[in-house]
Amino acid sequence: MRIELKNIYKSFDKKTNTIENLNLTVEDGEFTALLGPSGCGKTTTMLMIAGIYKPDAGEIRFNGQNVNALEPKDRNIGMVFQSYALYPHMTVLENIAFPLKQKKVPKKERIERAKKAAEMVKLDGLLDRRPGELSGGQQQRVALARAIVKQPKVLLLDEPLSNLDARLKIEMRAEIARIQKELGITTILVTHDQEEAMTLADRIAVMKDGRIIQYDTPAELYKNPKNYFVAQFIGTPPMNFIKGRIADQQLQIAGKSYFLNRSEFDLTEDREVIAGVRPHEIQFGRGGDIRMKGTVELVETVGYAKIVNVKVEEEHFRFFANTATSFLYGSEIEFSFPSASLHLFDARTGASLK
Ligand code: ATP
Repeated sequence: MRIELKNIYKSFDKKTNTIENLNLTVEDGEFTALLGPSGCGKTTTMLMIAGIYKPDAGEIRFNGQNVNALEPKDRNIGMVFQSYALYPHMTVLENIAFPLKQKKVPKKERIERAKKAAEMVKLDGLLDRRPGELSGGQQQRVALARAIVKQPKVLLLDEPLSNLDARLKIEMRAEIARIQKELGITTILVTHDQEEAMTLADRIAVMKDGRIIQYDTPAELYKNPKNYFVAQFIGTPPMNFIKGRIADQQLQIAGKSYFLNRSEFDLTEDREVIAGVRPHEIQFGRGGDIRMKGTVELVETVGYAKIVNVKVEEEHFRFFANTATSFLYGSEIEFSFPSASLHLFDARTGASLK
């Protein structure tokens, strides 16, 4: 199912817009994540797609048809919430079959279909247990099976993994990806976890204050963030930033001036900027054309590499280094990166100068 949101507005108090002129298209079979900080309006957006909230203005379309007046039960949607919301007195099988019971599907068919959904999420063998006798990951699977048992055309997932520990999270992430691809179902995931969005989604809508700031593939968001907000939100470890300025078509940062490629950056206007560089672009020593000096503050070992934390002026930079290289705390070191890997943002508006 293709989902379109057109010029959507939603307010809860008639004063401030929780959602403001939101536009979004999710193609049939696509996996889209709504990503943003707490309170930016992700859940509100999702509940409008589900029909639980009504927009104050704008149109929601499923396969080109306006569904604004359609009740949630008629929207052909499966949902999974953070809390799972399982029925404690029912068995796993009864929980999964419940939506079919509500639809008055005959018992034999109900059980057959519930078993098939349970198999899909690898719960066969646990069908007679009650939710209280399951681990968090297993409960999550029940919630997922219950959401897909009606064979909905749309799957809505609201922070489905946030109650799981780190290892289970990664396991369930892979499960969700597999099930989504197997069913080919249009899916919308609400999350504040950029890593979750980056690993699962075909496209991510980065939201802030009720608006979509950028809607792109994970690779594009990583490579070409449209503004400072997206740049600092996407990537682990995060992008490094330092204040600078453009003057006479040159970049001044950390006490030095650099000529940059004018076809790559808009250098026409003198202005304060924030320069950004991803940790993996930086190398220890002088290999790149932009060179900086800093004081070693901390060295973290992550197995395959070291993450070196360096203080440069008032800023903190992190980069990866070979595990064989030693760094002395408090010592001054030089590091560098290619100017082509640089991101520049207008310090006032946050817009990228690329
Ligand atoms: P979180 O990650 O914390 O769930 P979110 O991005 O999903 O955040 P929403 O839950 O959509 O954000 O909330 C956006 C704003 O709308 C918040 O300021 C919230 O308080 C407000 N809001 C949401 N639902 C209601 C409601 N039913 N009544 C009043 N205000 C609401």
